[in-house]
Amino acid sequence: MSTYRDIFKWGDKRETQVDKGTLNVIKEKFGLTDQDFISKHLLGDQEVKLNVKCNLSQSILYEFIALVGKENLETDDFSRANHSYGKYYADLLKLRKSLIPTPPDAVVYPRTEKEIKKILAICTENNIAVTPIGGQSSVTRGVETPKCGISLDLTKHFNKVIEVSEINSTVTVQSGMLGPAFEDFLNNYGEKYTCGHFPQSFEYSTVGGWVAAKGAGQASTGYGKIEHMVLSLKVITPSGIIETKTYPASAQGWDLYQTFIGSEGTLGVITEVTMKIHKFRPDNTKHASFIFKNFASAVKAMRTVMQSGVGVPHLFRISDPEESEIAFKTKDFEDTFADKFLSALGYKSGERCLMFVAVEGDKSHTNQVIYSIKRIAKKYNAFSLGSKPTKKWLEQRYSSAYLRDPLMDLGIMTDTLETAVMWDNLIPLWRNVRKYLKNRDKTVVMVHISHVYENGANLYFTFLSPMKKGDELNEYNEYHKGIIETILENKGSLSHHHGVGRTLAPWMQEQLGEESLSLMQTIKNQLDPKGIMNPGNTLGLKP
Ligand SMILES: Cc1cc2nc3c(=O)[nH]c(=O)nc-3n(C[C@H](O)[C@H](O)[C@H](O)COP(=O)(O)OP(=O)(O)OC[C@H]3O[C@@H](n4cnc5c(N)ncnc54)[C@H](O)[C@@H]3O)c2cc1C
Repeated sequence: MSTYRDIFKWGDKRETQVDKGTLNVIKEKFGLTDQDFISKHLLGDQEVKLNVKCNLSQSILYEFIALVGKENLETDDFSRANHSYGKYYADLLKLRKSLIPTPPDAVVYPRTEKEIKKILAICTENNIAVTPIGGQSSVTRGVETPKCGISLDLTKHFNKVIEVSEINSTVTVQSGMLGPAFEDFLNNYGEKYTCGHFPQSFEYSTVGGWVAAKGAGQASTGYGKIEHMVLSLKVITPSGIIETKTYPASAQGWDLYQTFIGSEGTLGVITEVTMKIHKFRPDNTKHASFIFKNFASAVKAMRTVMQSGVGVPHLFRISDPEESEIAFKTKDFEDTFADKFLSALGYKSGERCLMFVAVEGDKSHTNQVIYSIKRIAKKYNAFSLGSKPTKKWLEQRYSSAYLRDPLMDLGIMTDTLETAVMWDNLIPLWRNVRKYLKNRDKTVVMVHISHVYENGANLYFTFLSPMKKGDELNEYNEYHKGIIETILENKGSLSHHHGVGRTLAPWMQEQLGEESLSLMQTIKNQLDPKGIMNPGNTLGLKP
């Protein structure tokens, strides 16, 4: 039997338990006992059954079958349900409650670019919505299908590396390739390379999704965000094919390929991406971890590193006091001899902050950068914890997100929101958004900085709070709206790397201004005159 849980469960499908350390923290923070966890909440283990039929006519379905083959078109309930949502918190709630009012009519797996071109022509002619699909890890309602139509899934056939150029240090890759296969290929190619892009969703997201949602990986401080990595693209739009040429840089008007980075499926289907690669030398990587007395001094040290020209680390991360406290609690560090020792030195629980650093590259580079960072950290009174905590963090860099579903099973609301902010507004934004989040009774708020620039950084908020059972969706939507508004009032961007999707679309006009949004709309109208590409307010665009 195929269940809703099979659709939403993130990570290893077998993992259903919250670990003991985290469970103890939840009990302590929310005043709960084992009794409260006996019955599980909205498990989503009911069989998938859709109430909405496929609305495409038989003749259209035959056209698709003639084009891609019977085995590359699905109209059964499970496949359509499986392509209805991404991994936004409200998506997960809806799936747990069997709420799928607008599933796609069909899922199509194109084999060639020619087929994509023809599919877009059929859909334009018949007014059928098309949603390009990668790993479906969108957390912004980016792959939802409010206008039904077809989900165009690229993971089945567009999943190969086309070409590596060792002389140019570039790779050309098809957009539906998943992170692990891509990285594995590069790690074993020629002189050995890395793509440098490791979002927490790495295991289940694709190159096309990284580009279309304008993402950032955990090593972005060193390697850059995805828009800093891409050199050219091929995109099939309803109006024609746009293929940009590859140069290290150019002055031929504006860089058109950048228009498609962050386009979230609204302009066309990205089929190929040419991006930079880097030498893969894991043995040279240097790790360091520190504890600072408070958030302000950790942030100052981080900013000093970024602005002093000593070189930048690849992974660079600070946890705020509450996130650091929870990290210590879940690792059973509290009340140990080491904990008491740190407290006696002035690194007090509730104030102290962890910093994780990893520097990659040539040995001479990693040695020099880590030395400089240690020197700067010392200047800001950091205590060095050695390399182990960062290495430990790296071991669970992807799997920590697997906890979200088991936490929801326990009736715990858990979600994340992120923003980018200039240095001068970072501390006020951190303080005010935390304050807003904490206004909700019994809420754990963990904040980290993980993508850092000379001029500012991101702030990433994770919150946990007991759900209001029975009213989970409404209470979440209201809370979420307040968080976005507080971020914007405090000069944060709408998003740093999750993208906009439909979740943040209502704020696009206010955030960009009418003229800018209207320019985006004009580009959309030119490339997609019938408005078939990912319609339904994605990016705040109209059909
Ligand atoms: C647990 C978890 C952790 C995450 N951590 C991070 C993180 O660290 N950093 C980060 O940046 N993001 C993160 N995300 C968000 C998400 O993984 C990223 O946005 C990712 O880049 C999406 O890739 P995907 O292949 O899953 O794309 P999808 O979710 O399938 O699609 C995302 C958007 O891109 C469009 N799209 C996909 N492929 C194409 C294509 N070939 N052509 C045109 N449009 C296309 C879709 O229509 C949609 O609008 C996380 C998500 C989860 C669930």
